[in-house]
Amino acid sequence: MRRVVVLGSTGSIGTQALDVIRRSPDRFEIVGLSAGSNAELLAAQAREFGVAHTALGADEAAQLVRDVDADVVLNGITGSAGLGPTLAVLEAGCTLALANKESLIVGGDLVTRLAAPGQIVPVDSEHSAIAQALRAGSTSEVRRLVVTASGGPFRGRTRSELAHVTPAEALRHPNFSMGRVITTNSATLVNKGLEVIEAHLLFGVPYDAIDVVVHPQQMIHSMVEFRDGSTIAQAGPPRMLVPIALGLSWPERLPDVDVPIDWSAAQTWEFAPLDDEAFPAVALARQVGEAGGALPAVYNAANEQAVDAFHEGRIRFVDIVDTVRAVVEAHEEPAELTLETLAWAEREARLAADQRIAGSR
Ligand code: NDP
Repeated sequence: MRRVVVLGSTGSIGTQALDVIRRSPDRFEIVGLSAGSNAELLAAQAREFGVAHTALGADEAAQLVRDVDADVVLNGITGSAGLGPTLAVLEAGCTLALANKESLIVGGDLVTRLAAPGQIVPVDSEHSAIAQALRAGSTSEVRRLVVTASGGPFRGRTRSELAHVTPAEALRHPNFSMGRVITTNSATLVNKGLEVIEAHLLFGVPYDAIDVVVHPQQMIHSMVEFRDGSTIAQAGPPRMLVPIALGLSWPERLPDVDVPIDWSAAQTWEFAPLDDEAFPAVALARQVGEAGGALPAVYNAANEQAVDAFHEGRIRFVDIVDTVRAVVEAHEEPAELTLETLAWAEREARLAADQRIAGSR
């Protein structure tokens, strides 16, 4: 029986994690749940699963992790607010099933230095796919990682065609139903940029050996190319159940988590290179990741401000990544990287993004 904490239990990842756990009551016991502000749903979940410890907000979530005795903590909080809880999980010595990629990207070395080998199990479908494919060979045999991208709802459009797309259109992800921030980030490809940084931090592979390929059907969740020329791909329906279940039960696989691909039906899977001109977010993320330090946190914070502004009708879709670029370019790196200087850099980035957004109206 694994004792599990689900942080962000009221969200898209969190509710799916509870579905997985609901179907395997003999394997998991939930010992803690957290939400941002949805106290009503949190209380209903706690009643259903008989959970005594709940938390609202990121600070309480980090404290909950310190207070309970858990084997696995799934971090399904959205945004950089998840950093404190991520650090608390690693310090507590539990396995961290990590959906909240922002905490890894923002914390960077601060997070990776704290993590014991194998302590972080990725829940992001691409990184779960890579982790699964990496089982096919040794680390020294890996040549490249290939991260797949759906291309989002605006795949195939030019930059000028993107100027007037609406928030409602941006929220129409072709394959996945997810929270607002990650869905918007999938439309701008900022999500893929964050995932390239995440892959580098999780697997220690250099940026020039991490490719992105557009694969609209999202049946292949990512691949690992080995030095003999063989590529191992992980495939499955475009849903999060398997990566979530693997995050909770790693390295074991649970039975019947999702329906497998139906090979009796004809299907076509396409692959295409990324259009860096229409979607500059990935190239910018590579630069930011290579530079390291506080820059990934700045990229993420500026993006979170810009996403809000876009949904509030204050900027256009193409202004999101332009804002992020401007804030990244103006960033002054702190002399030393600590939690405090990171928090300062994030605050400055949010401020700079807000000022630029206000000035562009
Ligand atoms: P949602 O917006 O659906 O859910 C976010 C969860 O975090 C909710 O429980 C929310 O609580 C809670 N929350 C929000 N703000 C805070 C805060 N400041 N402090 C504490 N808790 C907070 O997001 P998703 O489930 O879509 O995404 C969660 C994470 O997983 C993100 O990092 C995302 O990038 C990643 N991810 C998501 C995927 C998906 O399919 N959804 C796929 C791969 C990765 P409340 O309900 O009260 O607001």
